[in-house]
Amino acid sequence: MKPVVIFASSHYSRKLANNETILRRWLVYSISKDRVFCFCCRLFESQSTSNLVSEGYNKWKHLSEILKTHENSTSHKKFYHDWIEAEMRVKIRKTIDCEEQKFINREILRWNNVLIRLMNIIFYLAENNGSFPATTQGTSNKLYTPNNGKFLGLVQLVDKFDPIMQEHLKLAMAGDISNHYCGKDIQNELIDQMGGKVKSEIVSRTKNFKYYSIIADCTPDISHIEQLSLTIRFADLSDDNTG
Ligand SMILES: [Zn+2]
Repeated sequence: MKPVVIFASSHYSRKLANNETILRRWLVYSISKDRVFCFCCRLFESQSTSNLVSEGYNKWKHLSEILKTHENSTSHKKFYHDWIEAEMRVKIRKTIDCEEQKFINREILRWNNVLIRLMNIIFYLAENNGSFPATTQGTSNKLYTPNNGKFLGLVQLVDKFDPIMQEHLKLAMAGDISNHYCGKDIQNELIDQMGGKVKSEIVSRTKNFKYYSIIADCTPDISHIEQLSLTIRFADLSDDNTG
């Protein structure tokens, strides 16, 4: 029976003429493809026709010579150098990507802070108004215009005291951001999201408790459309609530 030749992990290291052993960090073996690749050449060289770069190499009997030839090639040495240099830059956070990432992180934080404020305004209005957002909108939907409703009125109120909202509205008024998230669509979307979260929390709590009751009640709203309200009560028998 013919012996099965497989990839040997000994290829991950290379013996130099002075007997020193070094790791071939660039060599990557794919279990799913059962082939080896050169990591740095695959990363930086898109035009290469070498099997180690394109579809991978799997002729294990000739692997030693192929690896030696490849690592001594000018193009591999160049891409290996590029890779090590890029790695060092990433370690000391000096890449363009890192600067971009810092900017993105700052933007994420800024938007999170803005959304927290807008959500709290919506939360307050939802708690204190019968029908949201109809009664929260005025005849104008523009910031700092007369009769622009309770929502924008509260946004403007927060703007008076809060630096985060001040910066946000300054950018919005100057047209530096395309969406200021103060329009009626975002109000509806946020209240939908918050309502969905509350609903899923109620459902998950109800599922956890054995005893619960549901009361359904209907009443027509201002436009004579029947609105159904559901009240769910459950007995919380967990340790925290007994005694
Ligand atoms: Zn290479």
